[in-house]
Amino acid sequence: MIYLDHAATAPVPKAVADTMYAVLAEQFGNPSAQYPFGMEMKKRVEDWRNTVAAALDCPADRLAFTSCGTEGDNWALRAAVWQNRHLGRHIVTTAVEHSAVLETCKQLEREGCEVTYLTPDQDGNITAAQVLDAVRPDTAVVSVMLVNNELGTVYPLADIARSLSASHPKTLLHTDAVQGLTAFSARKLGADFVTVSAHKIGGPKGVGALYIGPRVRDPRPLLAGGGQERSLRSGTEATAQIAGFAKAAELRLEHLDRNQAHLQALRAYAREKLLRIPDMVPVGTGTAPHILSVSLSGWPSQNIVNDLGSQGICISAGSACHQGKPSHVVAALKLPKRTAAGVIRLSFGPETTQAEIDACAEALRRHHDTRMPML
Ligand code: PLP
Repeated sequence: MIYLDHAATAPVPKAVADTMYAVLAEQFGNPSAQYPFGMEMKKRVEDWRNTVAAALDCPADRLAFTSCGTEGDNWALRAAVWQNRHLGRHIVTTAVEHSAVLETCKQLEREGCEVTYLTPDQDGNITAAQVLDAVRPDTAVVSVMLVNNELGTVYPLADIARSLSASHPKTLLHTDAVQGLTAFSARKLGADFVTVSAHKIGGPKGVGALYIGPRVRDPRPLLAGGGQERSLRSGTEATAQIAGFAKAAELRLEHLDRNQAHLQALRAYAREKLLRIPDMVPVGTGTAPHILSVSLSGWPSQNIVNDLGSQGICISAGSACHQGKPSHVVAALKLPKRTAAGVIRLSFGPETTQAEIDACAEALRRHHDTRMPML
């Protein structure tokens, strides 16, 4: 198999699986239990929190483990709206967020909030000025993702944070950094909430974390219950998942510079190679090193994905979370119909090789030469 869909989920290294197995099989105690076997687990959870916090460059006591990135997005938005309920119920976000943010915004609209959805230009860009222009005195929260999962566009979060705190000091800032994990510093970013998820960096599915900055006075829990995670997030800690998350973060950090350079080189190589295929055009001007979005203009993307899939090559027709529905991100770009129809995403990990890119490019060229385009 040639796996070029790391933005959907990343393979789990053996060292991560081994770490998780040891916790499941041997260190299975409940961290809330009052005997040494349980108390030892509590200490381990704090060690793992320290590791993930180091990867995010934030204080460990500002990090709460969650069940996934989706939970972090839901929690951050709702906690921000709750804290600022006396300021107003306006939210600023973008039309290209992950559905974990967009669907939460829709729920909040039904509960009385007003949401401004910013649209990107045709290249997928949204500027800090555009965000700031939309902020009003009654804006409770601004939510802008760090890296777009379909386009690889990196949004100017640090600029947004700086301008927002100067002009609207009470408005809170959330960023969904699920696609940017290990390549940023939460401390320097300046966002009040930062959502991350383990399975995009080689950790297991079903665990994430939310960074909660010092301006958040009362991060109202999403889940009521036994008061785990310092009463912020109830539910028995998913110890094996958390251990796997920490191990994956540690591995990614260990080789960060080398991996980033490898991904950047691969992406440039893939872009150059793919754009030599007739009718292949770039989509967006994203710069995230692990995501490449292109369109085989006129060839429906789902057919491409199926064709390559049948040859053991995994790529995506947009976000895997859309389950075959047309992507709202591609729709927001307002591309010509044939270009929009053919958008595919290749995404890479530290293990991806040039030979895999070559095989994928070859399969795409064959698809172009042998399959009928749309009319
Ligand atoms: N946000 C972004 C940008 C994503 O790419 C994803 C997953 O695809 C999520 C949120 C959701 O994360 P999770 O799958 O951990 O719920």
